[in-house]
Amino acid sequence: MENVVILGSGIAGLTAAIYTGRAHLSPLVIGGPEEGGQLTLTTEVENFPGFPEGVQGPELTSITRKQAERFGARFKVGLAAKLETKGNSFTVELGSGERIEAKAVIIATGASARWLGIPSEKKYKGKGVSTCSTCDGFFYKGKKVVVVGGGDSAMEEANFLTKFAEKVVVVHRRDELRASKIMQDRFFKNPKTDIVWNKEVVEILGDEQGVIGVKLKDTVTGEVSEAGCDGVFLAIGHVPNTKFCGDVIDLDEKGYIKTDRHTNTNISGVFAAGDVQDARYRQAVTAAGSGCQAAMEAEKFLAHNH
Ligand code: NAP
Repeated sequence: MENVVILGSGIAGLTAAIYTGRAHLSPLVIGGPEEGGQLTLTTEVENFPGFPEGVQGPELTSITRKQAERFGARFKVGLAAKLETKGNSFTVELGSGERIEAKAVIIATGASARWLGIPSEKKYKGKGVSTCSTCDGFFYKGKKVVVVGGGDSAMEEANFLTKFAEKVVVVHRRDELRASKIMQDRFFKNPKTDIVWNKEVVEILGDEQGVIGVKLKDTVTGEVSEAGCDGVFLAIGHVPNTKFCGDVIDLDEKGYIKTDRHTNTNISGVFAAGDVQDARYRQAVTAAGSGCQAAMEAEKFLAHNH
């Protein structure tokens, strides 16, 4: 039986792995389908302490993983499908059917990109519709792309895409951005960006080759229009990865894991850290911080209960 299983290999899970590793608990980290978490999908991280010149997201993940391995953390790829409690231990069932028993569990499964929920986005996924400019931006050299959203992610994606695309048009459903001032300033200063206010993408238009445009609906007048583009990037926030929690772990109305201020969930011995339990801050540094807290709580729990 494992001492502690950490679900998720983003910055929260990796920090929990460093701490539980240093506590000689030999943690097992299960990295999900987006191994390394959201940081691997981003470019420069400018606000993580200790990197005055900034650091690339994938680099930050990879050096943190090395740090965890140095203290004995072990890694396995798998998708948590179910969590069961059994006496004073837990069983994590993976998508492959493999079952792993543990004395304590730290859930750090993060959050994944939100989709609009319209049929045409799935139809053209990988054929012009993407949630990751870092992954797919390269294919839009000299082209026109639409970015949907009005938060920091939308600004970041739009600015990044101007490295390749000729024109980047942000479509936002209100007349005010949610993004921080610094991100907005960069966006508005960029000569290759433009913004369309009060519009929702109601359909993605395409042909056999892929995306050719979007159908927009004005959120004030209801008027429907069309705009041509070669790609659509969705940057409309994230949904927490908590499907496997079933009715074992208490979730809030948006699906985030409910924790107290010490990362405890409703089940003693199960802790949660990072974006899976944080709809408010969602920053790399706060995710890392809560990963540290969860690890220290797990260590204390094991000392008292096993
Ligand atoms: P967010 O702040 O939740 O913004 C999501 C945006 O998408 C909002 O503007 C929202 O519109 C819009 N939206 C949501 N659902 C929509 C739908 N169905 N149709 C159309 N638009 C929709 O998410 P985020 O931008 O991903 O940022 C998440 C967190 O990460 C934030 O705390 C942010 O500060 C942080 N972050 C920081 C950086 C950075 O500092 N470099 C970069 C990226 C993200 P409304 O405004 O109308 O709700």
